[in-house]
Amino acid sequence: MSNQDLELVSVTKRYGETVAVDAINYRFKSDSYTCLLGPSGCGKSSTLRMIAGHESVSDGSIVLDGRDISVLPPAQRGTAMMFQNYALFPHLSVLDNVAFSLKMKGVDTAKRHGEARDMLALVDLTDFADRLPDQLSGGQQQRVALARALITRPQVLLLDEPLSALDPFLRIRMRGELRKLQKELGISFIHVTHGQDEALALADDIIVMNNAVIEQAGPARDVFNAPQTKFVAQFMGGHNVIALPDGHFAIRADAVAVTAPTKGAVEGNVTAVEYQGTHVSVSARITGDQDVLALIPDTTFFANPHNPGDRIGLHWDASNQHKLIA
Ligand code: ADP
Ligand code: MG
Repeated sequence: MSNQDLELVSVTKRYGETVAVDAINYRFKSDSYTCLLGPSGCGKSSTLRMIAGHESVSDGSIVLDGRDISVLPPAQRGTAMMFQNYALFPHLSVLDNVAFSLKMKGVDTAKRHGEARDMLALVDLTDFADRLPDQLSGGQQQRVALARALITRPQVLLLDEPLSALDPFLRIRMRGELRKLQKELGISFIHVTHGQDEALALADDIIVMNNAVIEQAGPARDVFNAPQTKFVAQFMGGHNVIALPDGHFAIRADAVAVTAPTKGAVEGNVTAVEYQGTHVSVSARITGDQDVLALIPDTTFFANPHNPGDRIGLHWDASNQHKLIA
């Protein structure tokens, strides 16, 4: 165990009567990309702001490098935050925006501009040093905000919905850049998002939050492939949640195969067929008025097509059937 790990110990945030974060425990792996994922209002930003020190902890502690940082001011924690709206100073050049925190620390002009130029090189903005923020595109402003956060040499970079203001094309490009930057720098990134696709694309580990608590956490593939609760299965998407005689189960839609009714198969009636390019989605109604979705590779489907109204058999491997605990 590295002592660089960041650990949340029974961390709680209350705003008056509202419990925004309810005694959560988590140990972040060092040098890894972790996404904090969940619907709006579940407590993601509150958790991140407590780690950053922009919000006080109501109860519990935050430990980094073996010391309790929850009582320290933001600049002394070894963390840095990149804000959703970038919060750049409009009247300062890109270079001075990036150098700002060093100026606050009393670092002389030549030294802080030198370090700011290094950071601008890191995010590919060397040629933009003298511009003002409003002379930059959204993607460029975001890279300035990144450089400004990284100049403090944090052990942990905190990002709150950093891609939400970008158009879809730029969002996908930036997430590649974030991922690359995290690996190059070898520090931990903790990235808040409400998008499961974004979390899957970026994260080594995913923490799924719901109603102020952690529903499930673990490697991205495990969280997607083996959801433990109905909420996680539905929020991550791509799963059927089915009640069978021995409990509730999650089954990936792409793990369900469709045949003519056969012995041992779950039988159903096709209710809808939708062509999706690489796959065809087949919806079927099974006993108990439950809907099951099967995502069939297009060549497999068209070799043996089904139509609404057909009686079919649905199959999946037992290893793809994950029992839900809640
Ligand atoms: P998320 O980032 O997941 O959308 P937040 O951490 O922002 O969630 O909010 C969690 C809960 O705490 C919500 O119910 C929200 O309304 C409440 N909350 C957040 N910030 C404040 C605040 N400054 N004062 C009062 N309630 C707040
Ligand atoms: Mg938020």
